[in-house]
Amino acid sequence: MGCSSCGNKNEFREVEKKEENKIKKSIGMVQSYASALASRGLTNKKVSTTTKQLRVISCFGNEVVGGELPPCQHLKKSKTLGKHFCGGCGCGDREATWLIAQGDKYSKLDHPKLSCPLNMPGFTDYKPSNPDEAEPPITRKYYIENMDQRKVEEVPVTIIESK
Ligand code: SF4
Repeated sequence: MGCSSCGNKNEFREVEKKEENKIKKSIGMVQSYASALASRGLTNKKVSTTTKQLRVISCFGNEVVGGELPPCQHLKKSKTLGKHFCGGCGCGDREATWLIAQGDKYSKLDHPKLSCPLNMPGFTDYKPSNPDEAEPPITRKYYIENMDQRKVEEVPVTIIESK
């Protein structure tokens, strides 16, 4: 996927999220957040390890574990050091929207039901890539879909129960 002759870093094609009008978007955000919160109260209070690993790869890529996938184009650094939030869903930068929280705190990626503006792997509204996403430069989604399961399992995650 990289350029072996020039040594350039791997390139991935960016995919734009679907544009929605402002009212529809804000209703969608409220509904997604409400449904993520509601999912904490059901018997399945935590996401499975594999699902959370896929979410972490979708948002953060896998460069920290020696992989070649860069972070999502919508991943934003929080004003709080070491924290990140999704800039694509419009939820802003607050503790409840941090993708990975501190210690034993429940984080956004722990919700059993959670949507992603790009419908990435691991999220409830995941949609498989289109056939053209396999053509270079491939998309991040296509790359994740074709990852070796053992590489997915190398990603360190902590599973937190809802309190
Ligand atoms: S939730 Fe989706 S759009 Fe947002 S940072 Fe993660 S992968 Fe990117």
